Amino acid sequence: IAKRRLLKVKIAIVGTGYVGLVSAVCFAEKGSRVICVDNNEEKIKQLNKGIMPIYENDLEDMLNKNKCSKRLEFTTDLEYAVQKSDIIIIAVGTPMLPNGHADLSQVESVTENIAKFMNEYKIIVNKSTVPVGTQKKVIKLIRDNQINEYDFDVVSNPEFLREGTAIYDTMHGDRIVIGTDNERARKIMTKLYANFNQSIILTSPENAEMIKYAANAFLATKISFINEIANICEIVGADVQEIAKIIGMDKRISPEFLSAGIGFGGACFPKDTKALIKFTEGFGYDFKIVKSVIEVNENQKTKPIEKLTNALSCVKGRTIGILGLAFKPNTDDTRESPAITIINDIQKLGGKIKAYDPIVKDIDKIKFDNIEYVDTAYDAVKDVDAVILVTEWDEFKQLDLKKVIKLMKGNIFIDGRNIYKYTKMFKLGYEYYCIGKKDSQ
Ligand code: NAD
Repeated sequence: IAKRRLLKVKIAIVGTGYVGLVSAVCFAEKGSRVICVDNNEEKIKQLNKGIMPIYENDLEDMLNKNKCSKRLEFTTDLEYAVQKSDIIIIAVGTPMLPNGHADLSQVESVTENIAKFMNEYKIIVNKSTVPVGTQKKVIKLIRDNQINEYDFDVVSNPEFLREGTAIYDTMHGDRIVIGTDNERARKIMTKLYANFNQSIILTSPENAEMIKYAANAFLATKISFINEIANICEIVGADVQEIAKIIGMDKRISPEFLSAGIGFGGACFPKDTKALIKFTEGFGYDFKIVKSVIEVNENQKTKPIEKLTNALSCVKGRTIGILGLAFKPNTDDTRESPAITIINDIQKLGGKIKAYDPIVKDIDKIKFDNIEYVDTAYDAVKDVDAVILVTEWDEFKQLDLKKVIKLMKGNIFIDGRNIYKYTKMFKLGYEYYCIGKKDSQ
């Protein structure tokens, strides 16, 4: 009976980005009816035609299957979605403001409209990453904007999926966090997630909001920590991959998030670490560790240029091949990608760019002029003076490295993600540079 009742719960998800669209497809896959809303008309048009607005493994098949089964629909009409749903999930963007704070304007505007369109009791769930205290603000906004005083609850339900494995993560997450002080909302939310067969953590809204920032800040800290170890390894002649493997054998440390490289990017870690500093500053707290994490990361993004300028006496007029534009493999997301810093720096030095990414094809997405975007990795290395590998796509791990060096004009290869073996590259004739190990010079 409980299951049948659960299947009848109708969900609206506002925001069909990486989080909203993936969550919608997964809820539909688990049997719920989901109305997806976005104010981007083009996106909704595409989704109605079955065209994916983002690249994510397994998304297209699962989306089309559930659309055919009438469990998924796409609209720009928020009023319709609110009135037809019991639970309204907010999954809009919370980008960074120029002052580092999280920009809550999308969440606020959606909340105000939900309040106006309410026609009965609703649960409003916030999945967007928001500073602690936002759940209370959302409650106030709804009260201030309601036309009729319908009962409602506001739940904080942070999202932990990773782009690239978002469907898998949603279906097999480590935990589902539900932040509410209200028994009715707690029961409905627990039922909603019951058939995901994951640990459901019931907690306060403040805890739920803080958990998300604490998790992202901790993961970012691991990355900056291993990058600092990598920098020391380069000085003392140690090998960071060996160090990471062996310290990771300690269960208290774990091997995850211990890959040294050219820094983290993406739509979450950079903005969430900054937002955490900013909102804790508002309480008079100086979050020293997270400030250092950001500083280390900014510095790490400059490592390939440092290596490039050491290897090439002059970058001006030289052509550099860039392998990978996405901030990590298996996604088309270039937000805060280290590729952006690297390309900018090369262009400032007067260098020319040839770039290739297996998925990022749309020049608008990365917003650079004077770049030659090519169709294959081999085209990106043809006649270049140096190559910088930015994203560790599997395709690059399979490259014919003998062919690559023959195609290149020079032999400098900067591996920003440590995917090749120094000895092999050296034997093939490369001047090979990686992160946190002895260089080939
Ligand atoms: P996104 O930018 O990919 O998607 C946001 C969507 O919201 C866009 O399609 C946009 O058109 C839509 N939107 C904006 N204003 C709207 C409005 N008024 N009405 C309807 N739709 C509107 O963002 P995302 O990456 O999916 O992130 C969403 C939230 O989830 C953010 O707070 C982010 O921090 C958090 N989050 C993201 C990830 C991730 O890996 N991307 C993981 C966990 C949490």
